[in-house]
Amino acid sequence: MSIQKIMVIGAGQMGSGIAQVAAQTGFQVILQDIKDEYLARGLKVIEKNLTHNIEKGKISVEEKEQILARFQLTTELGLASEADFIIEAATENMGTKTKIFQELDQIARPDVILASNTSSLPITEIAAVTGRPNQVIGMHFMNPVPVMPLVEVIRGLATTDVVYQTVENLAKTMKKTPVEVNDFPGFISNRVLLPMINEAIYTVYEGVATPEAVDQVMKLGMNHPMGPLELADFIGLDTCLSIMEILHEGLGDSKYRPCPLLRKYVKAGWLGRKTGRGFYVYE
Ligand code: NAD
Repeated sequence: MSIQKIMVIGAGQMGSGIAQVAAQTGFQVILQDIKDEYLARGLKVIEKNLTHNIEKGKISVEEKEQILARFQLTTELGLASEADFIIEAATENMGTKTKIFQELDQIARPDVILASNTSSLPITEIAAVTGRPNQVIGMHFMNPVPVMPLVEVIRGLATTDVVYQTVENLAKTMKKTPVEVNDFPGFISNRVLLPMINEAIYTVYEGVATPEAVDQVMKLGMNHPMGPLELADFIGLDTCLSIMEILHEGLGDSKYRPCPLLRKYVKAGWLGRKTGRGFYVYE
């Protein structure tokens, strides 16, 4: 089966980025979300990114028009019947995702692969609600999608080699670098990154140092482009907490316990950049 038309479910931060990259690499794209205003918001971000690319001399005005002409926007899942490949990037909630996958399983052609961009939910569990668990896979893009080269390709328990290979090839066609991962909590990226962020929060909690000092050590001493606390504010402290909870529960090891200070900030509504306050204050 050749993939020409990709459907992206969810037009948020990640969905719009995935849709942009798919359209830029020549695919027809069906972008779906639950409300027109969310679709309009997603498309606006894509248009802004493409304009920025024109300003930087990366694409021409005509190319921008061609990329935008590849989009079809919809609030219905029905167009899934026309898709050759489907990537779900809706809100990180198991109930939301299983409902979407059950519906897609009914609508999409039987040969179509259903991928999820989840950062932390088990692919095997999502796959199990469909009648095609062998064709369900994780395709974990990084934020911001148009900029970051990595895609973790996560094999569920039943994912076949043919399906894995198809997705690996698709990632390459989308000019990304795929890395093969088995389905365990946090995959590779969040299994390694989040405990480091959590430990950085512990150093602040225990009074070892200020957030500025922690970030400076990791930037100047370890060559990280962003300090772990800056990065936590960028990811969202609620997201960080939820991933730590998934690691803690899924792996059953106390080393993954979320720092009490992280819980406190989330309860206070200090979620990082998106609320104007986290470990730093944003104007
Ligand atoms: P977001 O909140 O920006 O976007 C989610 C979108 O999904 C919203 O537009 C929402 O309206 C839509 N949505 C909710 N329910 C829906 C439904 N039933 N059908 C269709 N659309 C629906 O979130 P995001 O940051 O783009 O995250 C999306 C997914 O990507 C999550 O699974 C998340 O874990 C994953 N992810 C996020 C990041 C990140 O850094 N933000 C990185 C990698 C992966």
